[in-house]
Amino acid sequence: MLEIENREKPLAGQVALVTGAGRGIGRQIALELARQGAAVAINYNGSEDRARKVQEEIQKAGGQARIYPCNVADEAQVEQMLKQVQEDLGHLDILVNNAGITRDSLIMRMKEEDFDAVIDTNLKGTFHTIKHAVRPMLKQRRGKIINISSVSGILGNAGQANYAASKAGVIGLTKTMARELASRGITVNAVAPGFVETEMTEALPEKAREAAMGMIPLGRFGRPEEIAYMVAFLASHKADYITGQVLSVDGGMAI
Ligand code: NAP
Repeated sequence: MLEIENREKPLAGQVALVTGAGRGIGRQIALELARQGAAVAINYNGSEDRARKVQEEIQKAGGQARIYPCNVADEAQVEQMLKQVQEDLGHLDILVNNAGITRDSLIMRMKEEDFDAVIDTNLKGTFHTIKHAVRPMLKQRRGKIINISSVSGILGNAGQANYAASKAGVIGLTKTMARELASRGITVNAVAPGFVETEMTEALPEKAREAAMGMIPLGRFGRPEEIAYMVAFLASHKADYITGQVLSVDGGMAI
């Protein structure tokens, strides 16, 4: 029998938490998940005003959204945020680990504190949120976890020892979580963006931008919404049989 699903809002009735959703790629992910019907918990660390703007944009369009301050590198804060999200929104179906930072330099000049800061936010932050999101997902025997990795975690990138290690770590974490949680109906996948037009890449010196462009077969940087579409697909029922994968959205960089 032909099943007519709600094509306009395939994520209706679902609750999603997106970390680092006040700006950049995370903002677009929050907007896209909301457009597809999910109630969205918008996490931010420093950008309260911008998180509030994302919330207002979703609410104006008739969607449901709330904002949550939390430094994902701090496990106690993450535990508290996850409790609050479930109290406010009822449950949790989709977790998107998007929060991330860079502290680039060549290895000889890389300070230990810069190595630690990047690992703590990008890799341990992802560990923290998964650890505290899994309990409700296990109970409901359903959940979609999507971790934002990077092409740097696949290919490596000179000047990004800390960042590439954190993003390669996210891939290992993704595959392991996928194996641990598959029997309970929870899928775990990673998205590996290439260079995307956000404040993170705005900070690149012109020379580095040109070099990056030369490595992209499609000849341009990506747009944040192009990452968001992949995340929304992985969050949907259409991706129910996909787990433990790393989906590159990089204009062909990692071919
Ligand atoms: P961005 O514009 O610099 O935004 C970074 C986001 O992460 C902000 O929303 C920020 O929140 C949040 N964040 C940073 N530290 C946090 C912490 N400790 N706790 C909670 N949130 C924190 O970066 P983007 O380009 O959108 O990147 C988003 C993700 O995609 C990152 O994981 C990044 O590594 C990955 N990625 C980006 C590219 C690219 O080319 N742009 C390529 C590959 C992968 P506040 O502003 O509230 O502090």
